Amino acid sequence: MVNMSSQSQAVDLVKEELPLDQGSLVLSEDVRIGLVLVDIINGFCTVGAGNLAPTEPNRQISTMVEESVKLARVFCEKKWPILAFLDTHHPDKPEHPYPPHCLTGTDESNLVPSLQWLENESNVTIRRKDCIDGFLGSIKEDGSNVFIDWVKTNKIEVILVVGICTDICVFDFVASTLSARNLGLLAPLKDVVLYSKGCATFDFPVQVARTIKGGVAHPQELMHHVGLYMAKGRGANVVNEVSLGIIKEP
Ligand SMILES: [Zn+2]
Repeated sequence: MVNMSSQSQAVDLVKEELPLDQGSLVLSEDVRIGLVLVDIINGFCTVGAGNLAPTEPNRQISTMVEESVKLARVFCEKKWPILAFLDTHHPDKPEHPYPPHCLTGTDESNLVPSLQWLENESNVTIRRKDCIDGFLGSIKEDGSNVFIDWVKTNKIEVILVVGICTDICVFDFVASTLSARNLGLLAPLKDVVLYSKGCATFDFPVQVARTIKGGVAHPQELMHHVGLYMAKGRGANVVNEVSLGIIKEP
């Protein structure tokens, strides 16, 4: 039986073996920056809102939402570009290995209450995606890509990424974006920055997974760390501080 203390020992061990140096990001008028919000929707963040929603209040998730709201406010005040991905699925098109979630037309697939105001902001692009990876989920029927067009239209040099889940939708999007940048598809984008407190993942501890046939353990602290670590390995900058200090009051 795994208890809480051996869980935190495991986290400490992993953090020792996979150390993650985190820097800070200073938001500046001199660099064109875009904010990407990954799936900060009820179905993943609001207690009891669906098959993949938290079943009880969760600190990592609520911190991620609070930090994302703060950043969204700054970006909207400055009229800097924001792209919000909203996981949204047609009921006839399941997304293995996950149970049905965030179906079209349900509140699960909508922004959390504290971010719903974004729908009325002129600097915000909302992309409903039926794919874990927001880069692939940005491909439209005509072959164009909403994310690539957003980067190019706004001449974005740096993207700041927040959302859920660190090791799933956030990581997949970051990994694809870095590959696309390396291929030259995303000019003028230079840097992908991940804000660790603005990211979260779900918690499915091993002792719970063991009680469910086919359950795959997903301990939150560990997987959050691994997601950030892997993103850094692909070339993302991971920061634990975003400084708003130099932002001039409008
Ligand atoms: Zn999904």
